[in-house]
Amino acid sequence: MSKYDIIVLGSGPGGYVTAIRASQLGLKTAIIEKESLGGVCLNWGCIPTKALLKSAQVFEYLKHAEDYGLNVKDASHDFCAVVKRSRGVADGMSKGVQFLMKKNKIDVINGFGTLKTGKKVEVDGTDYTADHIIIATGSRSRELPSLPQDGKKVIGYRQAMTLDKQPKTMIIVGSGAIGVEFAYFYNSMGTDVTVVEYLPNIVPVEDEDISKQLERSFKKSGIKVMTSSEVTHVDTSGKGVKATIKTKKGEEILEADIVLSAVGIKSNIENIGLEDVGIAVDRDKILVNDYYQTNIPGYYAIGDVTAGQALAHVASAEGILCVEKIAGQHVEALDYGNVPGCTYCSPEIASVGLTEKQAKEQGIDIKVGKFPFSASGKASASGAKDGFVKVIFDAKYGEWLGCHMIGAGVTDMIAEAVLGRKLETTGHEVLKTIHPHPTMSEAVMEAVADAYGEVIHL
Ligand SMILES: Cc1cc2nc3c(=O)[nH]c(=O)nc-3n(C[C@H](O)[C@H](O)[C@H](O)COP(=O)(O)OP(=O)(O)OC[C@H]3O[C@@H](n4cnc5c(N)ncnc54)[C@H](O)[C@@H]3O)c2cc1C
Repeated sequence: MSKYDIIVLGSGPGGYVTAIRASQLGLKTAIIEKESLGGVCLNWGCIPTKALLKSAQVFEYLKHAEDYGLNVKDASHDFCAVVKRSRGVADGMSKGVQFLMKKNKIDVINGFGTLKTGKKVEVDGTDYTADHIIIATGSRSRELPSLPQDGKKVIGYRQAMTLDKQPKTMIIVGSGAIGVEFAYFYNSMGTDVTVVEYLPNIVPVEDEDISKQLERSFKKSGIKVMTSSEVTHVDTSGKGVKATIKTKKGEEILEADIVLSAVGIKSNIENIGLEDVGIAVDRDKILVNDYYQTNIPGYYAIGDVTAGQALAHVASAEGILCVEKIAGQHVEALDYGNVPGCTYCSPEIASVGLTEKQAKEQGIDIKVGKFPFSASGKASASGAKDGFVKVIFDAKYGEWLGCHMIGAGVTDMIAEAVLGRKLETTGHEVLKTIHPHPTMSEAVMEAVADAYGEVIHL
């Protein structure tokens, strides 16, 4: 029986990052994976979707080349080649993790791992034992009873990124990050897309101003948006799909080639031995404390199987903290209020901290500043004037409570706000920080200036 200091179950951005950090800390580590190294993020999530979105973005540029004074005749695309490129990028990333495992002397065990008592994990009849077992089994697409996925006409995200034929029409149910990213991709490729959202706003976790701006941009680009609407039934008996949609005005039937269900995720917690070991679970999530210890000593859980935001960078940060604590380092609990969230449709969305509504609901006296990209030199030069940066400060102490951005490339700009908030920066300090010209990032400084009545370019 092989004995390790650490066994990690699952090799997503939670698991593989945890394993590398454990190895750096001198711990003998093994990782168990039933599919491809890199988990959902590298194989079926963050990376392949961004590859598809890049193709869509390049195609948009080609279609609008004349806006830049360029002539491109009859821009067209090869849908299968676009999908193939995305799969190639994902495969390359997974191979990269394979290399990292080798480099860090981490044993990779291929197969389905089942937890056992006595700090053991069984894979294909072999028991592996460790002082610490970290569960990082991640999640999959959630299925609604009214929207069972058959993988052909009613699909989840995996099929949505590997279709061999582009659908002419598509209904996307759910307008979180996954839903709107696919909406942008398929619409750009020429599919007729309708987004159906149960709540009153699309991207409902975002600040309301962001939701409204995205809805405007989507409608402008031809995406149909139905809010406060619910798909109650799908009929797949015909050639395509007939979806019954309950709206405020009554019931509507929409027809499409394909329905994409993007209504959230379901944790991979079944059949992995949680019950046998006695690990406590609540509402689909493994219960953990600030250091990711479960109720059973020696067993830990991180990433999508726990209650934090289901994001790759959260999974990685949790795993690093978990093994640093195991190695006896002094660690600070993660601040889940300072996690950036990014959505890579066009325009992109990036945010951190409180929305204006949340700050008001908490009774905080706030200062709000906003700077539109239509007033930014870089945005004008780039032909990317859609969107804005919005900042929220505590009026009394100047604490940076929230930052919300929508526009080209904003996902690369949000780290400034995350770092600023981590360092407890005040609005005044951001205002006095010189931002390079011309960049989209000047909009952050200008939005802060707006909050303090000192905006220059408006
Ligand atoms: C379409 C899509 C786009 C996304 N885009 C982004 C994005 O842009 N940015 C972002 O931050 N997040 C994004 N996410 C979310 C992100 O992918 C997840 O939050 C992240 O992958 C979670 O990491 P994890 O390590 O917890 O689990 P996962 O990545 O789900 O990995 C878990 C791994 O465990 C393996 N496993 C499960 N059970 C067992 C078992 N019993 N034995 C062995 N192996 C097992 C699985 O095969 C899998 O490889 C996206 C998700 C999707 C679906």
